[in-house]
Amino acid sequence: MTMSTTPSTRPTLQNSKTPATMCTEAGCTNVAAFSYVWPWGEPGACCSNHRLHVQQRAENLGRGAVHMTAVDPHFVPPITRDERTQLIAARMSAEQETKDALARGAELYALNTRANQECQRLRARNEEAEAQLTDVRAQLDAVIGQRNEALAAAGSAQREVERLKALLPKDPTPHG
Ligand SMILES: [Zn+2]
Repeated sequence: MTMSTTPSTRPTLQNSKTPATMCTEAGCTNVAAFSYVWPWGEPGACCSNHRLHVQQRAENLGRGAVHMTAVDPHFVPPITRDERTQLIAARMSAEQETKDALARGAELYALNTRANQECQRLRARNEEAEAQLTDVRAQLDAVIGQRNEALAAAGSAQREVERLKALLPKDPTPHG
């Protein structure tokens, strides 16, 4: 399996986001191995394959050979002021996001704690109410029991009155 690179993606140096310097010869997609400056000041870069082409062209122009400088593939240019500013801004933004996330986490934790406390309070109140209801039911049962006992007592008293009435003479003789 071979790696394929799309023309739009420029190779980058290892462990760096800096794009590699490319050969400036028309139609070439190689990473540059040499950099040079034309006698009129224009900079260029070429791969090993195009080194002789460039030298030949320089000679044809009659301006002498250009000085080729090997491009160090491990060269990582120092970060610019702009890049440093962007890095600092990115770090500050990340720090702020972390702070926000922590604050939100603490807020949710506090809300959860309050919800749990409220839940416990309501549960305790419910237990209290159920205990009160049990007490009231017991009191009601006692009152109903007392009423039934009183009714039973009244009933037997009534029966005793009837029994005593039956013992009395049916047609008592008047006195005097
Ligand atoms: Zn080339």
